[in-house]
Amino acid sequence: MKKIIIATKNKGKVKEFRSFFADHQIEVISLLDLEEEIPDIEETGETFEENAALKAEQISNRFHQPVLADDSGLIIDGLDGRPGLYSARYAGEPTNDQANIDKVLEEMKDIPDEDRAARFICVLAIARPGEETVFVKGYCEGHIQKEQTGENGFGYDPIFVPEGYSKTMAELSPSEKNEISHRKQAMKQLEKRIHLL
Ligand code: IMP
Repeated sequence: MKKIIIATKNKGKVKEFRSFFADHQIEVISLLDLEEEIPDIEETGETFEENAALKAEQISNRFHQPVLADDSGLIIDGLDGRPGLYSARYAGEPTNDQANIDKVLEEMKDIPDEDRAARFICVLAIARPGEETVFVKGYCEGHIQKEQTGENGFGYDPIFVPEGYSKTMAELSPSEKNEISHRKQAMKQLEKRIHLL
């Protein structure tokens, strides 16, 4: 059976990727399954693609196996695309979801409803020994609510209302969110390139 290493320690992501690749008879190994401790790789790139490739290529070079890495974030039009690449640490280190939400709501307090468009982006990079890295991308369009609601999910979910919904991502069930998420849209694109693996 073919194998792929998923460059994440996030159990939720591992579960989503495992289920996706199982449908394609590819076994998933995550960083949680490896005996060796893999230090966090610094995301020093200037684009989502560069950050995803950094992670995927470094781990692929070390294990001589195909590796998938993701990089994701929130892009808000009214904030010139911020928090963008810096979504995880927008309010500073260490990462604090509530502080990040508070910062966005404060920065957007005078922005009217019609100008609050935003989207989540997910870039997946697949690095393979001796081959060019493959990239796919997925988006989830929506807008930023004026106050936070809901307890599910993580990150900016309590302030992000997906297009076509009147509640936030944090008010959707995990399976409802997974159906429309930027990660799911990226996986749909990956499906078209699965023959490369
Ligand atoms: P990472 O690429 O998983 O490290 O995500 C970067 C950051 O983007 C996270 O820390 C969150 O702040 C934000 N983010 C990414 N995906 C989501 C999501 O599905 N919901 C809410 N926030 C997200």
